[in-house]
Amino acid sequence: MKSERILVIGANGQIGSVLVEYLRGIYGENRIIASDLREPELKTDYFEKLDATDAAGLSSIVRKHKITQIYHLAAILSANGEKEPLKTWDINMQTYFNVLEAARENGVKKIFYPSSIAVFGVNVDVTAEQYSFLDPATVYGISKAAGENWSNYYFKRYGLDIRSLRYPGIISYQSMPGGGTTDYAVDIYHKAVKGEHFECFLKEDTTLPMIYMSDAMDATVRLMEAASDKINVRTSYNLAGMSFSPKEIAASIRKLILDFEISYKPDFRQGIAESWPQQIDDSFAKKDWGWRPTYTLDKMTEEMISELQKKYK
Ligand code: NAD
Repeated sequence: MKSERILVIGANGQIGSVLVEYLRGIYGENRIIASDLREPELKTDYFEKLDATDAAGLSSIVRKHKITQIYHLAAILSANGEKEPLKTWDINMQTYFNVLEAARENGVKKIFYPSSIAVFGVNVDVTAEQYSFLDPATVYGISKAAGENWSNYYFKRYGLDIRSLRYPGIISYQSMPGGGTTDYAVDIYHKAVKGEHFECFLKEDTTLPMIYMSDAMDATVRLMEAASDKINVRTSYNLAGMSFSPKEIAASIRKLILDFEISYKPDFRQGIAESWPQQIDDSFAKKDWGWRPTYTLDKMTEEMISELQKKYK
């Protein structure tokens, strides 16, 4: 485990900026190479500027650092993706093909591919099972469903050890989300702690699956460190933390910030949210590699508020 050399692509985003530090805590500072289109806010020795649509550039970084694992986080997310569908498809697929080929050609042993609950569509009623029908409504969801199938293909055809999670909406105090449909559930805490009114872009009773960042980090590394024979799903594992609506998260916040106010002005993201399931059955992840979430909505609210209070003090 200590001999791994890990490349994180899309390292400056909501997940990457937390994941890089989390992985450095486990494997050591110099074993994690962060990379992104943009330079990081804080300069670090272990950063490579990379547009992952550049196959040769990606391959040369993999060789230069003798990379053994790649976490491929770069993507255009659900809400942003709808603004330019074909560009989103190109970026999401081309970057992943480049990762798969760079791994195959340079002997990379393991890949992490983040999928999303956006792979599900309106034919899933309330709860998405592991093998529910996939008929995604967004170009983002279409690209993630395709990516899952390519992961399975590269595993079967070339033996590439690719592991994947269908993340629900991720909630974090360390970083801001990058244009998804669940972004409101991060923004709401910032507004509440700053004493501002929050206008929500979803209707009050729109229930969506979510997960707290520290549970998401635990799930990711637990999956990546599991013995190969425990990984029975080679497309992507369903993953669940908690499910709640804007009305419920507002009620949870009001237990600590009594005068918090929210109003609702649904926009195009309401349609995306309505195409997604409300609950995720993640029993395969629990059975295969021992996944257990530890945060409830109220426990997450307490930590989000206390951390953001330190930030805005
Ligand atoms: P984000 O938008 O916050 O970050 C993505 C990062 O990728 C950005 O820093 C961006 O600069 C970088 N990037 C974009 N195009 C690139 C390119 N061509 N080359 C190199 N870097 C590029 O996204 P995130 O929330 O951190 O999500 C990371 C991954 O997890 C994505 O694949 C996303 O689909 C998936 N995911 C996220 C969530 C969530 O709630 N955040 C939920 C489900 C799945």
